[in-house]
Amino acid sequence: MEFKSHETYYYHTYAGDMKYYDHDKTLYAPTFPIEWAKNHLPDTGPECCKNCKIFGFWNGVFLGYCVKCAEKYEGKRGNGFIFYGEEKKKLENSNSAFNTYLKDVDLDTIGDKKICDSAAVIDEINTYEIEDYNCFSYVSCYGSNFDGGYDSY
Ligand SMILES: [Zn+2]
Repeated sequence: MEFKSHETYYYHTYAGDMKYYDHDKTLYAPTFPIEWAKNHLPDTGPECCKNCKIFGFWNGVFLGYCVKCAEKYEGKRGNGFIFYGEEKKKLENSNSAFNTYLKDVDLDTIGDKKICDSAAVIDEINTYEIEDYNCFSYVSCYGSNFDGGYDSY
């Protein structure tokens, strides 16, 4: 049986605020519940879902699930992200990310702009009307140069 060790590291600013944590080589927003990071349903989350890899990230760290994945959790893990830093609005769901683990979180202070500056990306999209700028290319360079290429070896 293959043994996979689960490792978690925490990254802080000099002032002591947590910027993100690294669980199994995926970077998460500081307040993203670690119990969830340890328990993604199959095909959901930052490692397995293409949409999560794009819109679920902010400043290079995983902020929350995409809309499709959020539905698989029946909204218990938020409404799902439809754009960088933008969660789908669902008034009937009190478990929206910005009502729970992202409440009062200043997105400007989390993650690492050296990995990806999401606010700048949004500016660029708005300025040049780029349609598919994908921040994840930065993230994948950071973690792995392969895009799901492990199987071919
Ligand atoms: Zn997803």
